[in-house]
Amino acid sequence: MQFSSVESTSTAESFMLIDGDWTPARTDEWIDVESPATRQPVGRVPRGNVADIDRAVQAAATAFRSWRGEAPAVRGLALLRIADDIEADSERIARLLASETGNAIRRQARPEVASAAALFRYFGGVAGEAKGETVPLGHGLLNYTVREPLGVVGGIIPWNAPVQLASVKIAMALITGNTLVLKAAEDAPLAVLEIARICSRHLPPGVLNVVTGYGVEAGAALLAHPGVDKLSFTGSTEVGKIVMRAAADRILPVSLELGGKSPVIVFPDADEDAVAAGVVDGMRFTRQGQSCTAGSRLLVHASIFDSFLDRVVEAVSRLRMGDPLDERSDLGTVVNQTQYNRVRSYIDDGLTCGATPLIGGLPAEAGPGDGLYVPPTVFRGVEPSWRVVREEIFGPVLVAIPWHDEAEALRMANDTHYGLAAYVWSHDIGRALRTAHAIDAGWVQVNRGLGQLPGMSYGGIKQSGLGREFSLEGALDSFTHRKTITVDTHATPM
Ligand code: NAD
Repeated sequence: MQFSSVESTSTAESFMLIDGDWTPARTDEWIDVESPATRQPVGRVPRGNVADIDRAVQAAATAFRSWRGEAPAVRGLALLRIADDIEADSERIARLLASETGNAIRRQARPEVASAAALFRYFGGVAGEAKGETVPLGHGLLNYTVREPLGVVGGIIPWNAPVQLASVKIAMALITGNTLVLKAAEDAPLAVLEIARICSRHLPPGVLNVVTGYGVEAGAALLAHPGVDKLSFTGSTEVGKIVMRAAADRILPVSLELGGKSPVIVFPDADEDAVAAGVVDGMRFTRQGQSCTAGSRLLVHASIFDSFLDRVVEAVSRLRMGDPLDERSDLGTVVNQTQYNRVRSYIDDGLTCGATPLIGGLPAEAGPGDGLYVPPTVFRGVEPSWRVVREEIFGPVLVAIPWHDEAEALRMANDTHYGLAAYVWSHDIGRALRTAHAIDAGWVQVNRGLGQLPGMSYGGIKQSGLGREFSLEGALDSFTHRKTITVDTHATPM
């Protein structure tokens, strides 16, 4: 593992966007946002609470009255302009994002900001496609459907890819005629507020409101607010269940993008060097494994198990870990001390159970001023029942398990309560597709280990979530309802 040095970052103060105004919390309390690399503050944001959420929801409800009737082309144009402005300001946003999350600028932060612009552009381009249909019923009846917005959307996002996840929720909610109150994650709100700043230039006040604060305060207040018409949550399965319970109380529509423990099946015909590189990308070691779609269970045919793991270890050892703002870094830090301790405790647990680390192992305990660097660990010699194999670690830990026949590989792949992503590596197209169809997951990639692209329907099954994002289809399913109108063309006027 190579290492590059840490450079300092600047501190900034940010406000929440409510009803077109930049505002502190009513209580004037603040949350410091720290760089996990330097452990120095990079900014501070308001500690939003019930009163702030109430103001934001009321503003969104007022704005909804006119935004819902706005021409789709006008909404689309706003999103296209936002995309252009994000691109124009992308370097500054990417640096802020790398500073607050610890994600490496070249491998993660810059591509994430580019993906945010691409999402706004995609949804801006499909603005006029929220179409209904006519359904022939005979008897002189004209029966048709229209897609209608749901109202005020309460959105909550995590810290791992905050700019991308904020952008997809903003674009999907707004293009379908809804208004939005979005709560940013307390660990990574700064770059999201910069996206909000750009959006606010092109949107009427109240259409988008971005609040900051803790989950149990601002987040909980948003879930409980009676003015919210739809909940859209991305985060852990544990909090996803809280969101779903809150939705149940008012029968609110809810979409959930939750955790994963995604399998990677490697067949013996795979080109081992190319696949090892793909596995390392698909594990998203470049976001230190803090990716919901990380391929974190490596299931390899027994005949190539040893040679393939040699190649994976070699590919991992070539990654350079260091200052997130350094162009040479492939890996930065994990996001905070809690996350550092959590990943460390999983590695400790794997070692205690008897797993063999091929690279990595237990990192030192991080003291108050230490950068939160966790070198990637690859374990072999693990049992299917162990926590490192079953639970989402959300860190740079890969477990490798051999299999002997296709049925066994599939059984292992599906032996999880998650169902977000999966990866299949084989040049035998029949085998690859057969496997892709048999895996229980919302998204299976064949011979590819990269991220989502605008236009593809993305989301999980089982305890990985409900609903789809990133696509027009997802936006229509998750952010509109289908109203049916039936007209009797024979009826005489009353
Ligand atoms: P988290 O669930 O702890 O927090 C996510 C958000 O929920 C934060 O904004 C937080 O403040 C808020 N929150 C926490 N408790 C709350 C409560 N009681 N009421 C309301 N809001 C509350 O998740 P995290 O640690 O920020 O992110 C990591 C998790 O997110 C992982 O499980 C990962 O797999 C998942 N994730 C999923 C996707 C996906 O697309 N499926 C994408 C990214 C991350």
